[in-house]
Amino acid sequence: MTQENKQDIKSLTLTQLQEQMQELGEKAFRAKQLYEWMHVKLARSYDEMTNLPKSLKEKCGEIFTYTALEPVKVQESQIDGTKKFLFRLEDGNLVESVWMRYKHGNSVCISSQVGCKMGCRFCASTLDGWERNLLPSEMLDQIYAITRLTGERVSNVVVMGTGEPMDNYDNLLRFLTLLTDENGLNISQRNITVSTCGIVPRMRQLADEKLQITLALSLHATTDEKRRKLMPIANQYSLDELMKACAYYFEKTGRRITFEYSLVGGVNDTKEDASELIALAKPLCCHINLIPVNPIKEREYVQSDKAAIQAFKNKLEKNGINVTIRREMGRDIDGACGQLRRSHIKKQS
Ligand code: SAH
Repeated sequence: MTQENKQDIKSLTLTQLQEQMQELGEKAFRAKQLYEWMHVKLARSYDEMTNLPKSLKEKCGEIFTYTALEPVKVQESQIDGTKKFLFRLEDGNLVESVWMRYKHGNSVCISSQVGCKMGCRFCASTLDGWERNLLPSEMLDQIYAITRLTGERVSNVVVMGTGEPMDNYDNLLRFLTLLTDENGLNISQRNITVSTCGIVPRMRQLADEKLQITLALSLHATTDEKRRKLMPIANQYSLDELMKACAYYFEKTGRRITFEYSLVGGVNDTKEDASELIALAKPLCCHINLIPVNPIKEREYVQSDKAAIQAFKNKLEKNGINVTIRREMGRDIDGACGQLRRSHIKKQS
C-alpha cells in the first residue's frame, strides 16, 4: 500500500475506527483504546500505547498513517508569555500555531491550510499562495502537541491562523466533531471560534449544522468598493449577501456573530467608516473586535494611531455597539499571521 491511499487514523471518528477494527477481525474495545490513546492521552506514536498488542500496532502502522506534528521552533513572548509554535508536517510543509494565556484559560490559534489563496492585502499568510489543505488530524494535532509541550489544558480554540477554514470545509467539520467529542478532548463548542474572510455559501452551510461555535467574519471595510481593495474575496460576495448570511447564522444557531475589523491607518479608520460600520452592525446581533493592523514589511499598511483607534471605538460604543479592541499578544515574536513560517522558509532558502 502506498502512503497516498493509506487512511489517516487520527482523522477517523470513533465509529469509523470501530468499523475498521471489525474489518481487521479485532475486538471492538480495541477501537476505544486506540481512540483514547490518540485523543485523550495524546500519544505521539503507537510506541506509547502500552496496553495494545504489538501485532495490532504493527497492523495499524501498515494500513494507516499517524499524524504527529514535530515542533521545529518555539518562540516565547517576554511581554505576555504568548508562545508561537512552528510545526513540521509529515510531507515537510510547515504550519504555525499560537498559544495564549488568558484569565479564563488557555487559548490556541490554529492554522487550517498550508498557505492561503485568499490574497488579503495586509496578510502575510497569503504572500506565497496556497500549498494544500490540512487534514482534520493536522488541525487537531496542533492543539494536542501544544498541550503536551506546555503541560497545560487548552480550553479555547480559534481557527484564525494561516488559511481559510471555509475553503477546507469538510476537513474543518470533521476536526470540529473530533475536538468536541466527549470521548476525546471534549472542548465545548462555545469555546471555539472559526474565522472566515466571508465565503457566503459555506457560512450558510455551517449555519445549517446548528453548532454552538462562534462565527467570526473578517469584515475590515464597510463598502464593497473599499472591501475589494483589501480583500479579493469581496469581488465574489457583496456586503449585502454577507450580512444576510450573518443574520442567517444567528437565526439558525442563536450565536452572536463576531466582526473582525482590522484598523489600517488612513484606509478604514475615519469617522465616516465608523458610521458606516454602525449601520451595518446595528441590525445584527454582533460583537465587533477591532484589531490594530499588524504591519508586514511586504506591504505599505500602517496602524491607526492610538487616538484614532480610541475615537473609533468610542463612536461605536456610543451607538450601542458591543466592541472590544483586541489585545496585541506576542508582538515581540513575529506577531502577524504567517510571519513565523515565512521568515523560517526564507532563512532556509
Ligand atoms: N482566513 C480567515 C482566518 C485567518 S486570518 C479569515 O480571513 O478570517 C485571522 C484574522 O486576522 C482575520 O480577520 C484577518 O483578516 C486578520 N489579519 C490577517 N493579517 C493581519 C494583519 N497583518 N493585521 C491584522 N489583522 C490581520
